Amino acid sequence: MESNSEFDVIIIGAGVMGSSTAYHATKRGLKTLLLEQFDFLHHCGSSHGESRTIRLTYPHHYYYPLVMDSYRLWQEAQAQVGYQIYFKAHHMDMAHHNEPAMRALIDYCRNLQIPFKLLGRQELADKFSGRIDIPEGWVGLSNEHGGVIKPTKAVAMFQTLAYKNGAVLKDNTKVIDIKKEGGTGGVEVFTAGGEKFRGRKCVVTVGAWSKKLVRAVSGLELPIEPLETHVCYWRVKEGQEGKFALGTGFPTFASFQKDIYVYGTPTLEFPGLIKVGVHGGEPCDPDKRPWGAAVMMEKLKEWVEFTFKGMVESTEPVIKQSCIYSMTPDEDFLIDFLGGDFGKDVVLGAGFSGHGFKMAPVIGRILTDLAVHGETKSHDISYFRIARFRITSMI
Ligand SMILES: Cc1cc2nc3c(=O)[nH]c(=O)nc-3n(C[C@H](O)[C@H](O)[C@H](O)COP(=O)(O)OP(=O)(O)OC[C@H]3O[C@@H](n4cnc5c(N)ncnc54)[C@H](O)[C@@H]3O)c2cc1C
Repeated sequence: MESNSEFDVIIIGAGVMGSSTAYHATKRGLKTLLLEQFDFLHHCGSSHGESRTIRLTYPHHYYYPLVMDSYRLWQEAQAQVGYQIYFKAHHMDMAHHNEPAMRALIDYCRNLQIPFKLLGRQELADKFSGRIDIPEGWVGLSNEHGGVIKPTKAVAMFQTLAYKNGAVLKDNTKVIDIKKEGGTGGVEVFTAGGEKFRGRKCVVTVGAWSKKLVRAVSGLELPIEPLETHVCYWRVKEGQEGKFALGTGFPTFASFQKDIYVYGTPTLEFPGLIKVGVHGGEPCDPDKRPWGAAVMMEKLKEWVEFTFKGMVESTEPVIKQSCIYSMTPDEDFLIDFLGGDFGKDVVLGAGFSGHGFKMAPVIGRILTDLAVHGETKSHDISYFRIARFRITSMI
């Protein structure tokens, strides 16, 4: 293929998943086009901001190899670009000792032989020198495999590496249709600006817009719900700042209760501020965002006040950053072929449900495998098939 409008693979959507896929595709020498509807590195999707947690503890065993591979791939990619994306930390999960999610994490660590420590209230206070408290009856599950990824920097890194490897990158280019190419095989991709590109294969990584675009091109109703949420930064009280900083042994963390799942990272991106947020958000249309989702703020304030023993100012967060989740009903990903008339020519990576960032390097590699070989041998992706849901077609 020699023309400027013909490619081996066309990737739609330049969040972290599309940008990682572009990097992997170009590493394999594929003529690659990456299309983005907004400016590159915009703040309207899911992949912008200053920090994402990477952790190994999951309630399902099938995430273990994906996260393990990702640790290695993050380090490999950052070595190529020359700046730091991944910052190592401990990780700690906290919940009542009878909480099913905690039991699942303990079983997961035991079954996979991941070294961990289970700490009661006093042991946990001792380990973190009085910086973290949990209620009576709760436990902390502490392990070495935590860390922070810098999201906007990571997306820029994948785009830079893809560009250096020869990818064509086009932003402000919204895709409105994908059609099967009758004559030579492959697909044609149409943009709102009237351009047409031909690709042997196409990868769709459009985040919260997946339901809209997939419905428009194939009639499939994917069970992906966009949720608007925000991350909150809280001010550490004067004199206490150093206690919460990355590198002091302060962990990345998650805390589970029936009605609220809180997560956060040590101080890194904003001096003197700590990130603490709530998993989940409010259903929204990604094209008509309210830009002001509610996130159980009163409960979150109580959590901050209690857990950090009054050392963090809990009256209001000082920064709120808006972001979108793409939730599936079971919170597992959708990694599959679109099927129908497209067969294996169009690959979908979507529904990352508020926890996909950490695995972006390996997901980009899997999506490239699917586009090039029609399968991936590196990981079992059967858990992420579209067919696990009863999908209706609108056509
Ligand atoms: C507040 C918050 C906290 C999170 N915390 C964590 C965490 O700690 N750890 C973790 O692992 N994960 C976390 N996640 C999840 C993670 O950030 C996402 O899973 C990941 O960013 C999803 O990336 P994506 O590429 O699928 O989507 P996006 O980043 O939204 O990218 C999709 C892109 O497609 C573009 N697009 C859409 N439609 C079109 C079109 N028609 N034509 C061209 N382009 C189009 C969009 O503009 C967008 O740029 C968090 C997410 C949020 C919102």
